[in-house]
Amino acid sequence: MTHRITILGATGSIGKSTADVLAQHPDGFRVSALVAGSDVRGLAEMARRLGAEFVALSDASKQKPLREALAGTGIASGAGPSAVTEAVEREAETIVAAISGVAGLAPTHAALKAGRRIGLANKESLVCAGTAFMRDAAATGAVILPMDSEHNALAQALASGHPEDVVTMTLTASGGPFRTWDADRIGAATPAQTAKHPTYSMGAKINVDSASLMNKGLELIEAHHLFGLSADQLDVVVHPQSIIHGLVHWRDGAVTAGLANPDMKIPIANCLATERRLPMSVPRLDLAAIGGFTFEPPDEARFPCLRLAKAALSAGGGMPAVLNGANEIAVEAFLAGRASFPDIPRVVEETCAALAGAGRAEPATVEEALALDSEARRVAAGLLPRVTRSAASRL
Ligand code: NAD
Ligand code: MG
Repeated sequence: MTHRITILGATGSIGKSTADVLAQHPDGFRVSALVAGSDVRGLAEMARRLGAEFVALSDASKQKPLREALAGTGIASGAGPSAVTEAVEREAETIVAAISGVAGLAPTHAALKAGRRIGLANKESLVCAGTAFMRDAAATGAVILPMDSEHNALAQALASGHPEDVVTMTLTASGGPFRTWDADRIGAATPAQTAKHPTYSMGAKINVDSASLMNKGLELIEAHHLFGLSADQLDVVVHPQSIIHGLVHWRDGAVTAGLANPDMKIPIANCLATERRLPMSVPRLDLAAIGGFTFEPPDEARFPCLRLAKAALSAGGGMPAVLNGANEIAVEAFLAGRASFPDIPRVVEETCAALAGAGRAEPATVEEALALDSEARRVAAGLLPRVTRSAASRL
């Protein structure tokens, strides 16, 4: 049977890498549906190339241009929330959840409720509503396959033992483009500089999160939900070569690590495979050519977002959703030139402090998580002008 795939967030970095994996296996997969935000041309081009059956844009105003771009292809299309729902509900064995940010929560949850295999790239789903996602996956039989490279490596390493014998897990971080910069230089960092990731090419938002180490903080929260470990069983080590992605420490002292070249096609292929691994034409890992691995502890003084994310994980309840919502507002302001790079942790920290009461309760549903996210965005947006002004006056 051909394996049918739906990609949510098809025109983004993960979506395109998924398309590259599918292109290597033209006989193994069929594309059921592709979903994106508003990129008519990118979506239509990919749909033609992959022979998709249905495509949807979340931007309702794009219905007509999308239909025109697909004229004569026989590919059905739609735009707006109901079209996205239609895409999610179409028959598919695996749904790749790769919309960026909180916008991915509702469609990813709908896929999960349909009991599908989910290749989960959208970490925000677990950060904001992890308990609800894991509970609903267990109830519907949906399988969550971690696509984030660290969690994918950890899931593979975990297969070498019994889950109850795990003592701790380590996630590696590349350290991002500012790893060796001093605090003054980081203070003046621009959006273009965050885009120069040392080992991966990714979307704008995750580039900023990788530079601030917020991405690693979100990944600790993601790992907590995926693997059922507490905050003190999870740690981070900076490994600039990004070859080791995750390590499982077992109770007998053994450690199992997941290694691969830093190429998202590798964890994506791992998630798309069923009984057997997919053959992939990617460069083999050549340790002698790499020459050496280095490791260092993350510096939470220069990268306070990691400290804030750890605090939200330890506080639990709704604090990770508050942290994430505030971060999305702050990152958006930074990318638009309305905030400096160090304003990001300032806005996040103040929002978390302001909502420490409201964020105490764990969101029991995706709707509750989205309500808390809206509240965090409202508070963060309200704080932004004062935070940026008072930071500027300190210069
Ligand atoms: P991206 O910005 O490159 O792509 C985002 C995709 O989502 C685009 O197709 C966009 O059109 C679509 N989209 C945005 N808003 C939408 C909406 N409201 N409805 C429908 N579609 C919408 O992002 P990315 O780098 O591919 O990251 C996607 C997700 O994967 C993020 O959650 C990120 O944290 C995670 N992730 C990415 C990488 C990576 O290497 N890029 C690695 C691990 C995890
Ligand atoms: Mg990652």
